[in-house]
This record gives sequence, structure tokens and C-alpha cells, in this order.
Amino acid sequence: MSETLKIAVQKSGRLYEGSMKLLKECGIEVSNGNNQLRVTASNFPIEVFFLRDDDIPEYVQDSVADIGFVGENVAIEKNKEVETIKKLGFGKCRLSIAVPKSGELQSISDLKGKKIATSYPFILSNFLNEKNISASIHEISGSVEIAPRIGLAEAICDLVSSGSTLFTNELKEIETILKSEAILISNKNLSEGKKVILESLLFRLNAVRKAKNNKYVLLNAPNENLNTICKLLPGMKSPTILPLAEEGWSSVHSVISETDFWNIIEQLKANGAQGILVIPIEKMIV
Ligand code: ATP
Ligand code: ZN
Repeated sequence: MSETLKIAVQKSGRLYEGSMKLLKECGIEVSNGNNQLRVTASNFPIEVFFLRDDDIPEYVQDSVADIGFVGENVAIEKNKEVETIKKLGFGKCRLSIAVPKSGELQSISDLKGKKIATSYPFILSNFLNEKNISASIHEISGSVEIAPRIGLAEAICDLVSSGSTLFTNELKEIETILKSEAILISNKNLSEGKKVILESLLFRLNAVRKAKNNKYVLLNAPNENLNTICKLLPGMKSPTILPLAEEGWSSVHSVISETDFWNIIEQLKANGAQGILVIPIEKMIV
């Protein structure tokens, strides 16, 4: 592999930590010690560009970068010719419409003829068109949450995660327009060499992601219930069963998914399983 894949990452802000952590979990070493614009990884054919998140979709479209980690909200708003490859599982938030807590606006139908402040005019206007609501959109680039208090708009459309910013500004959410998380986007015309590097990166991203969604489980099971317990724990192929020194008992090892976790644990206990240990998995290659 003589080519290098150029990846755009947010320079600083809410996606920076998650992006760097993900690269690290993929075994890619990137040091951004001197606040540089671009850094080449020491052990993988990748070059990281540190940019403002708003610029990432355009740079990926124009081949300044080949791929990028960016919020789905930004990718949709910028509406560039790029490919969405996969969701990355961090940077979760939602784009919502909010109004003053104590005002007369209660639902989106009350927004007719009102002014809404946002940094997401494209997504908001699509939403309003779809709902047949004619309201005027006032685009501002930051501190959207103060717009109603200073008389700039009656409502806002902004990103929310915990809701604490809305709370502090005496606003309440009345509608979620979009649920977002960080995604991997790609240029549409990657060279064959770059595609090979991207495949290798995706293989690692999938192994990291799969590991996060699964747990390694060890437990002691009475032999008479082994069949039922094994059916609850399919594992990657099938569970590993080892006899315990104590007659009539076995140790069972397997992998279960995070989503089924509590449900399965309860059924295991109901079938006499004891000493259940649940251990995080670092990488998972199936
Ligand atoms: P930049 O200087 O790169 O333009 P920014 O101020 O536009 O940064 P951040 O506030 O760092 O951007 O947010 C980057 C992304 O993080 C958002 O586009 C969104 O995808 C995600 N995000 C997650 N939670 C939140 C939140 N509570 N508020 C805003 N963004 C969030
Ligand atoms: Zn930004």
C-alpha cells in the first residue's frame, strides 16, 4: 500500500475526543501534540486533517480529504455529494424545535407566521415544508438559545443532548426533527488503493463496534440445566463448557449482545446459573 487515506476530523469540539479515541481503538497511532493541521499516523497509511466540522462535508466532496468523521446533522445540513458509510456510535444528540417555557406556543402548528432562529436552515426548511407550516427562518451561527430572550425569534431549532442548555434558558422542546450521531462519510470517487485502505479501516471499526455491543459471560451451571442454558447463550459458534471440580456442575463461557443482556441474565438465573461474571470485550473478529 503506497497510497495514504486522508481523513478529516474535527479540530476541537464535541467530536474531537470521540474521533481520536476511535482511531486509537483501531490501533492507529496519531499524535496531535503541537496542534497541527495534519498528522500522519505512524503505523497505518492514514493522514489525519484537523478541521472545523462545518467544512468537513465539502472537503470530502472536493477530495481535499478522502473520508471524514462528522455529525450526521452537519452532513445532512451541508447537503454535499458524499457517501455515508457508517454510524460511529458517539456524538449522539438531536435537532429539536424549542419555545419559551411560559409562552403561548405549545406545538409546531403554533409556529405559523413566527420567526425561528437556527444554524440548520436547510434541515429546518425541509421539515417545515413537509409539515406545511409557513414560518420564517432566521439563520444564526452560534448561541441560538438566546434568540427568544433578545427578541430575535419566537422559537429556535438547535442541537440538544441533555437539555440543560434549554433548561437554563427557560426553553422547552416541542419537536425532535432529527436524531444524530457521528458518521463516517467518504468521497464518491476513491482510487482503488484508497478503497483498500478504507476496507481495512472499516474492518477494524467493525471489530471495535462489535466488541462494544457484546459482553463475554462466564457462569456456573448445574448439569441438568446445561441444555436450556446453552440455548440461551448461543455464543460466536456455541458456548464453551468445562467441567467443574464439584460433581454435577459445569462452567459455561459465551458471548451475548448488550441489547439482550438483562433479559438473558434473568433467564440464566431462573435456570440455576450461579457466579455469573460479565466481562467487556476489547476487539471482536467474527
Ligand atoms: P467547530 O468549531 O468545529 O465548528 P462547533 O461549535 O460547530 O465546532 P460542536 O459544538 O463541537 O461544534 O459540535 C460538534 C458536533 O457534535 C455537532 O455537530 C453534533 O453532531 C455533536 N453534538 C453532540 N452533542 C451535542 C450537543 N449537546 N450540542 C451540540 N452538538 C452536539
Ligand atoms: Zn461547527
